[in-house]
Amino acid sequence: MKSKTIIISNRLPVKIVEQDGQYLLSASEGGLATGLGSIYKKGENIWIGWPGIDVPPERQDEVTRQLAQLNLIPVFLTAEEINGYYEGFSNEILWPVFHYMITYANYEQTYWDAYKKVNDKFADIADSHIQNGDTVWVHDYQLLLLPCLIRTRKPQVTIGFFQHIPFPSYEIFRLIPWREELITGLFGADLIGFHTFDDVRHFLSTASRLSSANYADNIVTYQERQIVVEAFPMGIDDEKFEKFKDNELVKTHIKSFEEAQAGVQVILTIDRLDYSKGILQRLQAFELLLQNYPKYQGHIALYMIVVPSRDSVPQYRELKEQIDQLVGNINARYRTLNWLPVHYFYRSFPIEVLSALYRTADICLVTPMRDGMNLVSKEYVASRTNDTGVLILSEMAGASKELNDALIVNPNNIGETMRAILQALNMSLAEQQVRMRNMRSNVTKFNIHLWVKNFMDKLEEVKTMQASLL
Ligand code: UDP
Repeated sequence: MKSKTIIISNRLPVKIVEQDGQYLLSASEGGLATGLGSIYKKGENIWIGWPGIDVPPERQDEVTRQLAQLNLIPVFLTAEEINGYYEGFSNEILWPVFHYMITYANYEQTYWDAYKKVNDKFADIADSHIQNGDTVWVHDYQLLLLPCLIRTRKPQVTIGFFQHIPFPSYEIFRLIPWREELITGLFGADLIGFHTFDDVRHFLSTASRLSSANYADNIVTYQERQIVVEAFPMGIDDEKFEKFKDNELVKTHIKSFEEAQAGVQVILTIDRLDYSKGILQRLQAFELLLQNYPKYQGHIALYMIVVPSRDSVPQYRELKEQIDQLVGNINARYRTLNWLPVHYFYRSFPIEVLSALYRTADICLVTPMRDGMNLVSKEYVASRTNDTGVLILSEMAGASKELNDALIVNPNNIGETMRAILQALNMSLAEQQVRMRNMRSNVTKFNIHLWVKNFMDKLEEVKTMQASLL
C-alpha cells in the first residue's frame, strides 16, 4: 500500500456549530489550513486533531463520519481534558514560559497529568491510522510529547515537528518542572522546525544540557538516532491578500473609511488579546507622541483591533481592563468634538474589513514583546499592492528577521517606538516604496506554499538519508 502523510495538530482546520440538532461544518480559512490543504486533501492523506467543540459520546460517530468526508479525523476531548491540557498546561505554562513571561506561569501538577494523558490519546488515535512507512507532521506546543509517543508505537515512521511559537533560551526553559520529559518527547521526531535561527539555537543548547543528547551543526544525536533541527520561517497566503484589491466589498469599505478619515494619517494595530503583544506599551508610545508633539493632535489616529482571546484567564481579563483604561484616558484627555485619537475595537472582523484597513492604513504598528512569527505584519505588506505605507516592527517578532526594511524597534523602548512613529509619519513616498517593494518581494516569494514545500522536502530528504543508513 502506498505510504501517506498525516498532519496532527491540536485543532482541526474546521469550524463546527450545532444548529437545530444538526452539526454544520465549515472549513477554516487561516493561512496554515490553506497551505496544508495541498497535503491533507490529497489521496489517503489525513489531518488528525480536536474538532473544537464538545460532542456527546452518542453523537461522535456521526461527527466522525462528517469529518471523514473532508479527510479529517477527530480526537474528541472532554471539557475537563481541555481545561487541563489546553487551557492549563499549554496556555498557562508553555505559552507564558515560551514567550518569556515567566511570572505568569502556573506550574500545576494536574495540568501536567492532563497534558500527558491527552498527548497519549492523540498518539493512540494516530496509531490506529499510521502504517510503517508513513510520514507524520506534528504541529505546535500542545503536542510536544507526541513525536516520542508515536515513535514508540510505530518505530518506522518519519516524523516531522514544527513549533509555531518561540523556543526560549535554556535559562528560561529550565524553569519548567517537567523539562526533561518535554525535550525527550520531541526527540521522537526526525526533523524539528522553528520559525527562526535563534529558536533553533535555543533548542540545540537546551537539548544538550537537559539530556544525554549532543549536537554538531544542526543535527542532534540522541540514543543513536539523528534529529535534524532547522529554521523554516512561515509565510502567508499572499495571493489572498493581493486579490482583495479587486473585491467590491473591500473597495466599498475603503471608500467609506477614507471619507471618515480624510486629512488624518492612520496607524493600524491588530492583535489577539495577549500579554505577549505589547499592546499597553504601544498605547504609551502613541500617548507620548501626542503629548510631546501636539501639532499631530487632530491629524493622526490609532485604529486598534484587539481580538478577544482566552478571556476566562485572570491575566487576560486584567490586561483587557488595563487596555480599556489606557484607551479611555488617552481619548478623554486628547479628543476633540470632531477628532478621536484611538479607535478601539474589542472584537474580530471579517477578512474584507481587515483587508480594507490594511490597504488604507498609512502605518502598521506591530510591537509584540515576543512573537514566534507574527502574520499581521506580513498581511499588511502583502496588501500594499501600491507599495506605499510603513511597517513598524518589533525586533522580538520572528518576522523582523525577514522584513528588514521595516522600522525595527525594541518594544520596551517607548521613546524609540514613538520616534519610529514620527519617522513613519514623515517618510517620503520614495522611501516608503523602496522599503515596501523589498518587503513585498520577500512576502510573495516565501509564502505559505513554499514553507510547506520546504518542510516536506526536507522531511523527505531526512527519510531518504535514514533509509540509506538502515
Ligand atoms: N485575524 C482575524 N480576525 C481579526 C483579526 C485578525 O482572523 O479580526 C487574523 C489575522 O489576519 C492573522 C491572525 O489573526 O492571520 C493573527 O496571527 P498572528 O501571527 O499575527 O498572531 P497570533 O494570534 O497567531 O499570535
